Amino acid sequence: MSFSQKIKEEILVLSARHCCVCHKSKGVKLEVHHIIPKQQGGLDIIENAICLCFDCHADAGHYFAGHPKGIKFSPNELLKHKEAWFKIVREHKILPAIKSITGNISKLNYKLKMQQKVFKELIDHEFVRKQELGYFIYNTSHMFISLKVIIRSVDDVMYPRFYPEDYTGITGWFKVMIYNTYHNGIELWLDPGQGRKAIIDKNGYWELLEDRFDARLQSSEYVGLDTKMIGQIPYNNIIAIEARGDEYASEPHIYCKFANDGQPYENIYYKSFGSPENYIPDMELDVEKMTVFG
Ligand SMILES: [Zn+2]
Repeated sequence: MSFSQKIKEEILVLSARHCCVCHKSKGVKLEVHHIIPKQQGGLDIIENAICLCFDCHADAGHYFAGHPKGIKFSPNELLKHKEAWFKIVREHKILPAIKSITGNISKLNYKLKMQQKVFKELIDHEFVRKQELGYFIYNTSHMFISLKVIIRSVDDVMYPRFYPEDYTGITGWFKVMIYNTYHNGIELWLDPGQGRKAIIDKNGYWELLEDRFDARLQSSEYVGLDTKMIGQIPYNNIIAIEARGDEYASEPHIYCKFANDGQPYENIYYKSFGSPENYIPDMELDVEKMTVFG
């Protein structure tokens, strides 16, 4: 026999899923352990149960009173640790699930580190400095050291070979226009050149057109737009940057996890073309108002 599920749950709650000896928050990496080992007559009762992390469990597991060598924890010591920790949990209202918070912190730290790397290595700071104070960079692509980058999946095995012409689906590496940065990563312009035509009505509802010569472009009900398809790669999907490229492609190489359904993007959205000459920036098309007109 071992402890009942009820006793295990009780101990996990009373210890707030922390190790009673080292006080580390361990999430699921915990064991409910016998204070007096079963071989020495220890019972499956709550008084004989303690919550330990794997490390401390290993240090408590083989204690024999007859051979008290090294630093193994004795039953008495474990009992004191248990009572002391339960008291701390009660008095300081310690909560479990610190694990997800530490996970978020390390994710945030990674994001900030990669953001710094992108700003340092991919942005042409001399160019940005030369812009007049307050001048908005309408062609945001121009602030980068290269207009194009090579996006490479960390799992790609094809580079530097090309994918066959009849290959469908996203390839493991590709050359693409870099468009901008956003709060969570970098933006790529996925269909540079003409892009897709769209029509927008007076209420802001818009439809992407399959056909660049769609008859509705001539209708007075709609205004025709050229669009840019923008893919957003979060910093957390970027693994490494080789700003100077290699002997096959001199553009910066950006290694990514294709972690979102086999793609590096967390989001794809559309913008209408602005006009840098007239100081009109590209405008984001409201995804909520994307429609197919009847
Ligand atoms: Zn421990």
